[in-house]
Amino acid sequence: MHRPRSPFALLPLLLALGLPALPVLAQDVSVTIAPARDKFARSDEVLVRVTLQNTSATPQYLLKWHTPAGGVEAPLFEVLRDGQPVRYLGIKVKRAAPGPDDYLKLEPGTALSSTVELSSLYEMNVTGPYQLRYRTASGNLVAAAGMRPQPGALASSPVSIWIDGRLPRGAQPPAKQAAGGAALEFSKCSNPQQEQLAAAVDAGRAMTVDAHQYLAAGAGGAQYGARYGTWFGALDAGRAAIVNTNFTAIREAFETKPVKIDCGCNADYFAYVYPAQPYTIYVCKAFWNAPLTGTDSRGGTLLHEMSHFDVVAGTDDKVYGQQGASDLARTDPARAVRNADSHEYFGENSPPQQ
Ligand SMILES: [Zn+2]
Repeated sequence: MHRPRSPFALLPLLLALGLPALPVLAQDVSVTIAPARDKFARSDEVLVRVTLQNTSATPQYLLKWHTPAGGVEAPLFEVLRDGQPVRYLGIKVKRAAPGPDDYLKLEPGTALSSTVELSSLYEMNVTGPYQLRYRTASGNLVAAAGMRPQPGALASSPVSIWIDGRLPRGAQPPAKQAAGGAALEFSKCSNPQQEQLAAAVDAGRAMTVDAHQYLAAGAGGAQYGARYGTWFGALDAGRAAIVNTNFTAIREAFETKPVKIDCGCNADYFAYVYPAQPYTIYVCKAFWNAPLTGTDSRGGTLLHEMSHFDVVAGTDDKVYGQQGASDLARTDPARAVRNADSHEYFGENSPPQQ
């Protein structure tokens, strides 16, 4: 008599060979995905609800990091655009072997739902039809009796959505910046964040150009007014030359260099960079609460960060804030012309001065 072979018997072999796992082998748990809508605009977050359901009569244990319960830290989805896989942009983590605490318990008949924003995890800034599927497999996805890890796979049915992205259908990211700048690339930024960042880069570039023009028109310092004095202090040809050189370099960076903005930071401050790693800028929480222009704005923050790169102006953070920066200009102008916030406030020019 011919006995049908369980699909489970093949899985360890398939995993060992690196072959794609068979769908829905964790047959006691079902996974479904439901997008927030069918059609997403370029300023919409691409929200998808993932539901894991225990369809069996016994508790089921799933390896946490193959679920979206604690945030997505692995490529848990398959995303196709026009039938082609798109890049996964999220993190991949090296972990130790899982212990009992790494498994999530699902009671019989219960479901666990999480909402995931997909456009910061997958390249979704190109217009087109997308097909999404939850799809993950692991040699220790589920835990059996005694919390013994077992291989398993989870896959949902595919769902189709349409996204109107920043880039036209068929485009190859990274995008070319629209308003006269160089290439602008993003990392871990959702579609709406990319929209807002493109505007912030435009604002930062515009205030840099304005500052540079002010400096160039001032005849090497002879005609500089309160705007210069407030942020860089008493007139001095040597210091004025430093400020001119700095703004020439910041302008050149905004206009010609491949800027990359990373949205993965969750800290309370505005932004940070590694000065030796141009031109990647990491934006954090305070950035998203800032206005586009004006004091401590998004545009000014990008100018500030751009000034830090060694190959740009190599500025430091000697003091923060308008009060500190204007005090520094009065008391120690030699340090003011090396201070990042002084450059930011000079560029923001808020309130405006001549
Ligand atoms: Zn800084």
